[in-house]
This record gives sequence, structure tokens and C-alpha cells, in this order.
Amino acid sequence: MTMEIVAEALKLMAFAGLAIAAILVVLIWKKNRTTKLTYLKFVAQVVSMAAVFYLFTYTVRPLLLLAVILIASVVLGRFFCGWICPFGLYMDIITLIRKALKIRYRILPDKLNKFLHNFRYILLGFFLILVLIFALIEPPSSLNLFMLMALLFAGHFEHLGIMLSPVVPLIVPWEGPLEIGGLYFSYPYIQEVIKYSGKNFATIIALTFLGLTVVGSFFVRRVWCRFCPTGISVAAINRFKGFKWAPMLHIEKNETKCTKCGICKRVCPVQVTEVYEQKGGKIMTSMCMLCTRCVEMCPYEDCLKVNFGKKTVFSSRNWLEPSEIE
Ligand code: SF4
Ligand code: SF4
Ligand code: SF4
Repeated sequence: MTMEIVAEALKLMAFAGLAIAAILVVLIWKKNRTTKLTYLKFVAQVVSMAAVFYLFTYTVRPLLLLAVILIASVVLGRFFCGWICPFGLYMDIITLIRKALKIRYRILPDKLNKFLHNFRYILLGFFLILVLIFALIEPPSSLNLFMLMALLFAGHFEHLGIMLSPVVPLIVPWEGPLEIGGLYFSYPYIQEVIKYSGKNFATIIALTFLGLTVVGSFFVRRVWCRFCPTGISVAAINRFKGFKWAPMLHIEKNETKCTKCGICKRVCPVQVTEVYEQKGGKIMTSMCMLCTRCVEMCPYEDCLKVNFGKKTVFSSRNWLEPSEIE
């Protein structure tokens, strides 16, 4: 019964969210193009979380879902991270609470930030090796097409399910780790943490992980995104030869209009420095999650743009007083 009420509430929330998103899109398009982007992003994130809840009420193959997210990144880059990922939303909500309390965020040294971003490749490699180890310990009995298909979505590849952990909604339509009044609650990675920690330490390790990520996100914006392996696998595609055109959705900079004011560097939730440093053109960094905050805040007309292929979706505009621009 409780679950049905929650499901109805989520449905209403998703409909209300879509209506608000439509209004915001019209306002952004008609009025001053970018100021309301942050709100639009929040609405998109909330609607996505409700959609993810519904998605999990069907028998979705987790690894199929992961494949869809990864393949979509060829076109959309890390749009998933900036606009859809539920874990990203939780971190953004914690950031809003910190802002409301007027507490300033901490900035990681650039070298440490870049190290953490690169460390994600090691984490990704670790999970891939884990899959290989399990395949070697328990080799599949035959390798015909059906067996390969089955393995791709379950069996030894089951451990890759951890890559989908950021997508887990707070209320889950299955038997989650915490039950209150007929509702099951979960949190990204918690079920994997419990699974891999063993019976004796599961609760303590799970609570420590939860505490660290909540406190960490309070002081450092999008803290988990700095070393999340899902984020890097979404971003890695354009590192391959022949994929330099990817992603089609990207940020572009017009160097002649840039005054090096540094706003883009300060507002970026994951401290991307390339938008500030790069000498114009397509911004090519796997750290950028296309949240578009830098475009929203860059105070010079058309200096930064969000492009889809060659088509501009929206661009920065003058929002400083004329005297401040000159
Ligand atoms: S980096 Fe990971 S946690 Fe962050 S938004 Fe992307 S998938 Fe979600
Ligand atoms: S905010 Fe715009 S003008 Fe300022 S440094 Fe960044 S790109 Fe240049
Ligand atoms: S560089 Fe811009 S679009 Fe990319 S993550 Fe930073 S603020 Fe968001």
C-alpha cells in the first residue's frame, strides 16, 4: 500500500516536473536564454529519478541499461552525468543545503583533482579485471552465441553491475537494505558495499561509505564524480581513433571573446580548467559532464556555446553591467 502511494506520488511529480521543464524551456528560449538553465537541470534530474524508479519496476537487465547509457554517450557525451544521474542529484541537493547555510565549498588542488579523475581509469580497469578473474575461476561451459549473450547481461559480468550503482534511486522497488513502513530505501553503491564486505562488517562499512560521501559532497561539489568509474567510461569514447567527432553535444569556446575573467573555472562543479585554459574550439576533456553551468555564467555574449554538431543549442550572454564589461 505504502509503495503504491509512493508510486502515485512519483508519477505526479514526474508529470509536474515535465510541465515545469516545458515552461522553463520556453522561458529560456524566448527571454534570456540561459539564466534558468540551472533550474531546468534540477527539474530534469528529479524527473529522471522518478523515471529510473519506474524503469526498475520492470524486469530491466542492468547491464543492458548500462550499455544504453554508454552508447548514448557517443552522441551526448557526459550529458547523463550532468543532467540525469540520480547520485549527481543527491550531491547537488547537498550543495544546495550548504549554500543555504552560507558555508563555502572547498577547492581541491588542481593536481589532486586531475589525479582523482585519472584514478577512475584504474577503478574501471579493476572492475574489468574482477570480471575476468571470476570468468577464470568459473569458466563458462560453452561459448556459443546464446551463452555469450547470457554472459553479457548476467553471470560473470554481474560484477559490472556496480557501474550502474549511481543510478539507484533512494526508494527502490525491490527489497533494499533498509525498510521503513513497507518502503525500501537504498543509496548508490550500498548494495555492492554490503555484498562485498561480508556479513560481519557490512553495516559498519556501508554506514561509513554513506557518511563519507554525504560529508564529502557537503564540502566538495560533486565529490564522487571526481573518481566515479561510470563517469569515465561514459567519457572515454572520444579517446579512440576515429571518434574525435564524439561527443556531438559539446562545449565550444570563442577565444576572441574571452577576457580570462575566470568565472567558468570557479563555477564548474568538478573544477574543469580546460574551458578557461584552452585556446578556443571544442572543449575536449573527459572531466566535463556538460552541466552547462560555465555557459550559463560566462558573462560574454557567445563566448561559450553548447553545440550539437555544428548547431548551437544555446550560448552565453552579457549579464554584467556595461561598465563592468568595459
Ligand atoms: S560521474 Fe558517476 S556519480 Fe557522477 S554523475 Fe556521472 S555517473 Fe553519476
Ligand atoms: S567565463 Fe567566459 S570570458 Fe570568463 S574566462 Fe571563462 S570563457 Fe573566458
Ligand atoms: S566545464 Fe562547464 S559544462 Fe563542463 S562540467 Fe564544468 S561547468 Fe559543467
